[in-house]
Amino acid sequence: MTASPRTRLILMGAPGVGKGTQSNLLESRLGLLPISSGVIFRGEIEAQTDLGRLAQSYIQHGQLVPNGVTIEMMFKRLRSDEVRRHGFILDGFPRTVRQADALDELLLEMETPLTKVIELTLDDKVLMSRLSGRLGCTKCGEIYHSVTKPPKREGLCDRCNSPLFVRSDDKPEAIRERLNVFHKTIEPLRLFYQQRNLLVTLEAGEDPEELYHRIIDSLASHN
Ligand code: AMP
Repeated sequence: MTASPRTRLILMGAPGVGKGTQSNLLESRLGLLPISSGVIFRGEIEAQTDLGRLAQSYIQHGQLVPNGVTIEMMFKRLRSDEVRRHGFILDGFPRTVRQADALDELLLEMETPLTKVIELTLDDKVLMSRLSGRLGCTKCGEIYHSVTKPPKREGLCDRCNSPLFVRSDDKPEAIRERLNVFHKTIEPLRLFYQQRNLLVTLEAGEDPEELYHRIIDSLASHN
């Protein structure tokens, strides 16, 4: 199978591994629809909705938002016509087996099965340093790093000129907790998708471009 507008992927991996960057590349080059639970939560927080207020109390401490509200929020997005028409890249969801189970049922009902689940891996020390200098665009979602990928003009996005921001959970304590939570939850999820013969694990190196090509190659391979 090669990548097509109907490709449906999950990008799995620790915070800072590069899921957002790869998701942006897959969107701009293949037209796949990126669906990031973290981005949706941050939108709800900014709009000061009830869900946003609830999510914020977990997110600021680096903990997972409860399954029930997370699944409900993601299902709203996944049930849209846009998702049926295009392929998608799920980034940050599912993060628990309960979420993965619920997603399985929904995709079965929609007759839109997953193409692959791509797990990106990277050493914790590298993840810590990546997250510590991370900057994101408030508008287009482009991701920068104060040391390794600074914007051309300080505080402004190269792509769309909008202001950049530092995520409130990219602070040392929250980063540590997010990595802890990730290590506690990843194994059962890995097993879940391994059993369904969907999992591909790729070491995420330094170069996003090179990783992108390995992701594309992995779509052509049979597990
Ligand atoms: P992310 O942008 O994916 O790193 O997510 C930021 C934060 O949003 C996480 O640390 C969690 O607090 C929350 N979050 C995102 N996705 C999920 C999910 N699938 N389940 C529970 N909480 C989530």
